[in-house]
Amino acid sequence: FLDLDRFKVINDSLGHEAGDRMLSRTARRLEACVRGGDTVARLGGDEFTVLLEDIRSAADATRVAEKIQRELSRPFSLGGQEVFTTASIGIAFSKTGYDKPVELLRDADIAMYRAKMQGKARHEVFDHEMHARAVALLQTENDIRRALDRKEFTVYYQPIVSMKTGELQGFEALVRWEHPDRGLLLPGEFLDVADDTGLIMPISWWVLREACRQLRLWQKRFATGTPLSASVNLSARHFTQPDLADELTAALASAGLEPQWLNLEITEGALMEDKAIDQLTRLKALGVDLHLDDFGTGYSSLNYLHRFPIDASKIDRSFVSGMVEDPEKAQIVQTIVNLSHNLGMKVVAEGVETAEQAARLRLLNCEYAQGFLYSRPLPAYEADKLIASLYGTRSPKARQFRLPACG
Ligand code: C2E
Ligand code: MG
Ligand code: MG
Repeated sequence: FLDLDRFKVINDSLGHEAGDRMLSRTARRLEACVRGGDTVARLGGDEFTVLLEDIRSAADATRVAEKIQRELSRPFSLGGQEVFTTASIGIAFSKTGYDKPVELLRDADIAMYRAKMQGKARHEVFDHEMHARAVALLQTENDIRRALDRKEFTVYYQPIVSMKTGELQGFEALVRWEHPDRGLLLPGEFLDVADDTGLIMPISWWVLREACRQLRLWQKRFATGTPLSASVNLSARHFTQPDLADELTAALASAGLEPQWLNLEITEGALMEDKAIDQLTRLKALGVDLHLDDFGTGYSSLNYLHRFPIDASKIDRSFVSGMVEDPEKAQIVQTIVNLSHNLGMKVVAEGVETAEQAARLRLLNCEYAQGFLYSRPLPAYEADKLIASLYGTRSPKARQFRLPACG
């Protein structure tokens, strides 16, 4: 069972005609990887299946999978552009005692999903543990529904610091799940399922309302000079919601938060949604700020980035984490900062963990930073204590996070 990684992105950015051509070329390449008696089929979308007959050992199947991966990793030339893709492949063996072909297909599909989850561009062989995990996934979905009813989600707040002044600028709201049996769960443990099932919508809306309420409370309690801002993550799915702007207006009004203190963090994937530009323009008209999250990890076209009304980019942690040791990462960071500034965007660096990273980011004139160097994400009561420790004092000096010197 084979699924192309990032096909949707190619289809959305280069058009359906290019997408169709990509699919038929993929089919040709797949055919070239198998023997005469084998079968290659397209199930739909970017999903293909390959049936290998009379194989001698499991290694025969994985060898074919590797060959397919090699074949597909060669560039496709579509309308003058070179496009790259990889595939996620799931393998199931018929000898494991299946009654019906669809059961074999189901297990190969489960293995493919596993390959995707493990980071794509790979193959996985089905085992019974995977079936157990697929069942567990369904369980997670049911658990999430219940958790929403029982209010088991909670918001953690991670400080965002100005690199010019060292002052607290605001917080990013990050969802956590206080699971009754499994303890505190991070988004990585449930957001994929929530995204697949659409449950990400009610969760994110709840986080947004809660974060706006909390930030307004802090704004009223602490005289921080410039009021603190809230950064909230939206998923690409929100952009398919026609009443996005209306619901946002209602959320802000009920919290009493002025739109200018809300930053919406969107990913490059959201820019690919149909009507993204209309949606973003409407959000911008409300007065909120738009921040491009995990910048540099997606597939956004520089060609139209400037058309979106984006106020800031967030450099992904993967670039920041290696920037001191790895000159290439340092170059990428510098390029992202320059590009952002040239397009009139501010820059927030994510995942800043060392003073050395912070010092270099300051030299590059990066405006804001967020990371364990300053603080981990905190539950509301601890964030409260942190703000009190910064602003409960008369000395303006004590109000700052210590910034490492430049150079
Ligand atoms: P993100 O928006 O890129 O958030 C930053 C992630 O980096 C957070 O992970 C944060 O804990 C982590 N982080 C921050 N500083 C450091 C550091 O110095 N070192 C390291 N190693 N990590 C750092 P978290 O909380 O696990 O969130 C993961 C992702 O889940 C977020 O990535 C965001 O995309 C998503 N997410 C979180 N809450 C929500 C939500 O309410 N709605 C939606 N749609 N997505 C959310
Ligand atoms: Mg974020
Ligand atoms: Mg991020």
